[in-house]
Amino acid sequence: MARILVVEDEADIAMLLADDLRLEGHEVFVVSDGGKASGLGREGAWDLIVLDVMLPKKDGFEVCRELRKVGVRTPIILLTAKSHEAEKIMGLDLGADDYVTKPFNPRELRARIRALLRRIEGDYAGSVRFGEVEVQPQRAEVRLRGQLVDLTPMEFKLLLAFTRNRGRVLSRDQLIDLAWGRDTYVTERAVDAHIVNLRRKIEPGNSEPRHIVSVRGMGYRFDE
Ligand code: CA
Repeated sequence: MARILVVEDEADIAMLLADDLRLEGHEVFVVSDGGKASGLGREGAWDLIVLDVMLPKKDGFEVCRELRKVGVRTPIILLTAKSHEAEKIMGLDLGADDYVTKPFNPRELRARIRALLRRIEGDYAGSVRFGEVEVQPQRAEVRLRGQLVDLTPMEFKLLLAFTRNRGRVLSRDQLIDLAWGRDTYVTERAVDAHIVNLRRKIEPGNSEPRHIVSVRGMGYRFDE
């Protein structure tokens, strides 16, 4: 199951797409203009974005360019018009991962989505290493210098949110979305408290944090 953001202004197509993806077991959220897509897309809590090119406010290319520019690496499938060969090339140049031409065959789109999601799962399946820490997402295990680290489920989710967004500044709101889930009420102070505990468990020493770095006035950034 994946969290998928569908960006499409034609209501009937959006509904068809959303229903189809929900039947596949995915969690789907639909927005109908490029402005909202650009904002929501960068919150980072998506496994995949299906992005129409022809949109009000901002077109899909612009949204794609903006998201990549701020470091969002969520896979993007563009929905392009069949007649415009140049659109496909442009989309891939801007950092989209794949495209499907409209009018699309739902089965083809599903297959493309599955392929992309498998690719990401592959990325996540393996262990993640940084410094003296090794994270095994599937086993929900973290080791520091080979020794198991006892993390709470929340600390583990926070750590995964960080390792999946290396080098990006994440606000406390974004961390809440990524680790606790959207629409969960958690205070910023609670986020800070979890981070203090997480640092104590995985940071190398008593000196300045090396991996979970505070970025004043903005939030936190994960460095390897
Ligand atoms: Ca459209």
